[in-house]
Amino acid sequence: MIPPAVIDKIFDVAPIEEVVGEYVSLKRAGANYKGLCPFHDDKNASMSVSPTKGIYKCFSCGKGGNIFQFIMEHEGLSYPLAIKHLADRYNIEIEEGQIDVNELKEEARVKEGVYACLEFARKHFYERLNESQDGKVIYKPYLTERGINQQTIDKFSIGLSGTQKNHLLQEGIKNGYTVQQLYDAGLVKKINDDGGIVEGNLRDTFIERIVFPIFNVSGRVLGFGGRIIKKDTKAPKYLNSPETVVYEKRKELYGLSVSKNDIRVKDEVYLVEGYMDVVSLNQSGVENVVAASGTAFTEEQARLLKRFTHNITMLFDGDTAGVNASLKHVKTLLGADLNVKVALFPEDEDPDSFIQKRGTSEFENYVAQKSQNFIQLITEVKMGESKNDPIKKAETARNIAENIAALPDPLKRAAFINETASLLEIPERILVDEVNKFKLDNRKQKEREQRRESRMAEQQGPPAPDGPPAGFDYVPDYTDFKTPEALLANKKNHQEEDLLKSLILYADREFDEEQNVAQFIFNELEEDEIWPVSEEFAAIFKEAYSYWQEHKVLNELYFIRNASTCKLAAEVLSRRHSLSKGWEENFEKIVKTDEDNYKHEVVQNLNYLKLNHIEMLMKENQEKLQVAETEEDIMICQNVHANLQEFRKKITDQIGTVIL
Ligand SMILES: [Zn+2]
Repeated sequence: MIPPAVIDKIFDVAPIEEVVGEYVSLKRAGANYKGLCPFHDDKNASMSVSPTKGIYKCFSCGKGGNIFQFIMEHEGLSYPLAIKHLADRYNIEIEEGQIDVNELKEEARVKEGVYACLEFARKHFYERLNESQDGKVIYKPYLTERGINQQTIDKFSIGLSGTQKNHLLQEGIKNGYTVQQLYDAGLVKKINDDGGIVEGNLRDTFIERIVFPIFNVSGRVLGFGGRIIKKDTKAPKYLNSPETVVYEKRKELYGLSVSKNDIRVKDEVYLVEGYMDVVSLNQSGVENVVAASGTAFTEEQARLLKRFTHNITMLFDGDTAGVNASLKHVKTLLGADLNVKVALFPEDEDPDSFIQKRGTSEFENYVAQKSQNFIQLITEVKMGESKNDPIKKAETARNIAENIAALPDPLKRAAFINETASLLEIPERILVDEVNKFKLDNRKQKEREQRRESRMAEQQGPPAPDGPPAGFDYVPDYTDFKTPEALLANKKNHQEEDLLKSLILYADREFDEEQNVAQFIFNELEEDEIWPVSEEFAAIFKEAYSYWQEHKVLNELYFIRNASTCKLAAEVLSRRHSLSKGWEENFEKIVKTDEDNYKHEVVQNLNYLKLNHIEMLMKENQEKLQVAETEEDIMICQNVHANLQEFRKKITDQIGTVIL
């Protein structure tokens, strides 16, 4: 168990706008902040962050909660690990043993082991480069020769792998990691496919390589890129970690963890091809740079970048491979609604060699001068010198049209069609038709893909009905199922949810001269013995009640900070804010604001809860009546029924008056 004091401390030192701001570029909007939601493909800055309340909320996809909820969702961590993540980030100590590994779900446990392994490897490789004989005599001089200084080695945590086949494997085991963990982390691989994951069948993934750790946006090691420096070898020059439970290549960008602030400040990012380009540009003071690390640029990467800037300039080699790669990336970037420019380097140069030879200011001048949009780029590449070749012209126009069709914004499409028409001297009408053809093709293809996906989903059978997943060791207890209470416990209980919402919103408001809302609600629940029974809410009410009994205070802060209520708190608190504002402006005189209505709302929600409870009791009583054997039992049941009926009438009458 992590002590509540530690959790409170983190709440106190980790402002929500800072925690969310690590991942999302936030802009002030009145008392709140706004930004692109990282949990869905957002175009309208749907995410709102409230510094005063400590909550975030997306008005489009509905995700919301406190700082820990954000980290859990974003990093895919369990609650205890999200706490640890922020504790580390803000240098708050959690003692060994306070995080109970048994609390973690299996998947989180595996991931945590993998992360630990990778961090161990990073440190080990880094020390080897800086302290071992090999490092000092061979590898570091190599880096120095390529213009990489110590400061840059430290900044990117560049390291050196082992030189024997199982160097890291041995070191890992010596330091307490299992072979399975080292294998899951992609640090070792099987020698022979049939041999299983046992020590004798494994060898290091990186041997005799300079290694560049690949960090995720928040600075955790996910894997490595390794460069060989020996020339007389058949091994590939670059080698990357395989995909693992923590490393999905299509979602990551090399260099983003160190460059994100600079990207935000400059509102522009350079996309380069290799690790060395990122490292070398950084050392020369050009820090807003990332690399897609060898893979094709993906939609996910575009979305990730978009959180920090909309302006991207690709810096690629001017050779055929570089040009083709940049053309491929353009469409993806345009499709993500990014403003794309491309600057090609002279054929035998890349950004790394260029900046090393000619210096930062000449580099910046070159990029500014050579940057062109995709229309200029495609025209230059396809047409070359033959400006009037009609066949090449048609080919060029078609290629540009294909890219324009990827743009989601109709205004931008129109502007680019216009530019193309005048550049190629082609009537706009024809280009519009061509773009529309591609758009139609794209749509058809998307539909085909969707159909294929849904067919596949069908083949996998219908979604399992509510209840334990298949394979779960579960024996239904039918005796338990007979009571309506148990039936209710499994259903979503709207009355209970509504009452909890009232409690979150108004707990510390005055109800009458003697008590506040929380006190009133708890008294009613106690007196009438109608404590919530559903699995979802019963514990929440009990916990809040005992907190209130102990502290004699209960307010929205409690619900924001509580792990099991923070989502609901974010929902109701952000809604109240946006609603009441609109109400005041538009309906001030017609509708009473919730400020005036809250007491009615509380009473009403309690009444509905009571009603629900009475109906539950009536059902129970009905069942008893059906199995009653003696005259006396039947009498009792009938009496109970009459009483309940009377009680129900009282409540419904009350509900009616309140409505009027
Ligand atoms: Zn969203």
